[in-house]
Amino acid sequence: MIRLTEIKLPLDHEEGEISQAILKKLGISEDQLISFNMFKRGYDARKKTRILLIYTLDVVVENEAELLEKFTDDPHVKVTPDMEYKFVAKAPANQTERPVVIGFGPCGLFAGLVLAQMGFKQLLWNVVKKFANVPKIPLVSGASAR
Ligand SMILES: Cc1cc2nc3c(=O)[nH]c(=O)nc-3n(C[C@H](O)[C@H](O)[C@H](O)COP(=O)(O)OP(=O)(O)OC[C@H]3O[C@@H](n4cnc5c(N)ncnc54)[C@H](O)[C@@H]3O)c2cc1C
Repeated sequence: MIRLTEIKLPLDHEEGEISQAILKKLGISEDQLISFNMFKRGYDARKKTRILLIYTLDVVVENEAELLEKFTDDPHVKVTPDMEYKFVAKAPANQTERPVVIGFGPCGLFAGLVLAQMGFKQLLWNVVKKFANVPKIPLVSGASAR
């Protein structure tokens, strides 16, 4: 897949103008463009009378290798980067020890989710202070409760 950046179109452009801009940028015909996906859309509002939409587009074409060669010096035509999240570990089949996540805020919940996606049974540990004069109560939840 090819990533095109800095594709500029007027604020009120028609939907079909995006594919036309791709064809123009790459110098290809309509039948060579298989599909495209909008990765990002930004705004350039520096000129109030001429506000522009700035697109980053991922494009599937028939002649990808040929086009990448042709645009080798163009920083706005590159291979789409692999942005898929790669898990750093995989839980062993016979997990004997559980990782402990301290804190049940957004960061702790996310850490627990990622650990679970990697196959780990984990402990989520939190302290809750309900009232000013009551001591902090430790809470243990998730897989640890069993
Ligand atoms: C008044 C206020 C308003 C906010 N409004 C917004 C908003 O509108 N939008 C937004 O995006 N962000 C907002 N935030 C910021 C947001 O709440 C924090 O960025 C977010 O909660 C941080 O997440 P965290 O997981 O890092 O920490 P926390 O949410 O603080 O979670 C940490 C957890 O760890 C527990 N803990 C601490 N020490 C221990 C220990 N020793 N043992 C066990 N458990 C422990 C705590 O009880 C807590 O539950 C606001 C923050 C405040 C204070």
